Amino acid sequence: MPARRPAAGRALSFSGPLAYIAGMTNAIHIIGGGMAGSEAAWQAVGMGVPVILHEMRPARGTFAHKTGQLAEMVCSNSFRSDDDTGNAVGLLHWEMRRAGGLIMEMADAHAIPAGGALAVDREAFATGVTARLSAHPLVTIRTGEITALPRAAEGPVIVATGPLTSDSLGAAIRAETGEEALAFFDAIAPIVYADSIDMSKAWFQSRYDKGETEAERTAYLNCPMDRAQYEAFIDALLAAPKTEFHEGETAGYFDGCLPIEVMAERGRETPRHGPMKPVGLTNPHQPGVKPWAVVQLRRDNKLGTLFNIVGFQTKMKYGAQAEVLRTIPGLEDARFARLGGIHRNTFLNAPRLLDPQLRLRSRPHIRFAGQITGVEGYVESAAMGLLAGRMAAAEMLGRSLPPPPPETAMGALVNHITGGAEARSFQPMNVNFGLFPPADARGGRRNRRDRYRAYTDRAKAAFDSWLADWTLDEPAC
Ligand SMILES: Cc1cc2nc3c(=O)[nH]c(=O)nc-3n(C[C@H](O)[C@H](O)[C@H](O)COP(=O)(O)OP(=O)(O)OC[C@H]3O[C@@H](n4cnc5c(N)ncnc54)[C@H](O)[C@@H]3O)c2cc1C
Repeated sequence: MPARRPAAGRALSFSGPLAYIAGMTNAIHIIGGGMAGSEAAWQAVGMGVPVILHEMRPARGTFAHKTGQLAEMVCSNSFRSDDDTGNAVGLLHWEMRRAGGLIMEMADAHAIPAGGALAVDREAFATGVTARLSAHPLVTIRTGEITALPRAAEGPVIVATGPLTSDSLGAAIRAETGEEALAFFDAIAPIVYADSIDMSKAWFQSRYDKGETEAERTAYLNCPMDRAQYEAFIDALLAAPKTEFHEGETAGYFDGCLPIEVMAERGRETPRHGPMKPVGLTNPHQPGVKPWAVVQLRRDNKLGTLFNIVGFQTKMKYGAQAEVLRTIPGLEDARFARLGGIHRNTFLNAPRLLDPQLRLRSRPHIRFAGQITGVEGYVESAAMGLLAGRMAAAEMLGRSLPPPPPETAMGALVNHITGGAEARSFQPMNVNFGLFPPADARGGRRNRRDRYRAYTDRAKAAFDSWLADWTLDEPAC
């Protein structure tokens, strides 16, 4: 544990007890020393701006964290694919390394063999992050739970309290953002790449052709099923293995977002009277045949490259899930940008609440970073910390740092959560090529590997030029 931590255990609120640190208005307060908070701190001090990092552990824990270390990995010890030429998360690794990221530096230092993935010795990794931040002269680490959002007079703040934000701070954020804008569970429906849907079977149409504009009348993609296909689908759904909630998670998700397999358990016909109802639709491929059931997909981003399967939030295990979903006519060759899930997860409706600087529109002295912004995963969370730390530090130095261009992995992600995603159906997202503006493979090369290479080549050039334009000259030490 860091030597510079004071004895702790008190719950702190910015309005009173934090007065003793709030005097440091030249420092950025970072709440939460996880993946995002640690990276944000590192980036800000790298630009010469002091930070005070508030972490509630070990004084107050969560059901998933086991230690008092910064940047604890709560579950898997993997940062996923390290392929920076053909994988979006590998590209994010590359960008974070390029930007001097502490999370990637420590991950590389403590990597263990894992094929093409980047897996780490979790204890050595967290110890390394904790030691590096504790030793930095511009970092002060305070142990204690922050229970209220700070006022503007108390200086700039980055809230990076993650999926398990403490209850009192969660309530304070909800009071600021409104009931609808902060969720405590996600309910993720699987998301499919548009170009992997078989349009010889699927068609665009909204039920009863509802809508004022052509775009609204064709807002949904429909995949029809006959009776035998429906019955086989329900059998597969019921038989598929499901994930359980982690110990300590409550199952309060049931209101309003029933998993599709739970609907099927309640009655084989229930999905057909719910999200799969076949009414108000005519299949142009077989106009004389009335489908027995219809699976609908809705655009998930403004680019139109991603579609989510409406009402299909699920706790089916990933392997089984892909298999079951590919039995849906039109989705036989579907590629999934992300599979469905339901987790305890505190996250904002970022497209509605945050500006492209990751600031709360209603209180711009407060930035958010990490999983609470609606990204998903260790790497994505750390990447949002990297940006928030740099942006906040730039602001302290009288500069304004624009987000990286949308052709980069970091830029695509921040662009998605702060505007590219549909606010009304916003759910957490991990990085994937569907978030990027389409890139054509050069010379007509069309296989998937070449297409992804076109994305990563373009991203690397754009990221380097953003870094060159916006790196400040004077690192602190
Ligand atoms: C059970 C579970 C399993 C997961 N498994 C994986 C996985 O296998 N792979 C993966 O990539 N992602 C996984 N995730 C998601 C993972 O949590 C994030 O990817 C990542 O840790 C998020 O980083 P973060 O910095 O936003 O939040 P965290 O890393 O959780 O950091 C937030 C920090 O804020 C602190 N904090 C909370 N409230 C307060 C407060 N009021 N005052 C002060 N400090 C506070 C917490 O103690 C914590 O240290 C999992 C999440 C959960 C809940």
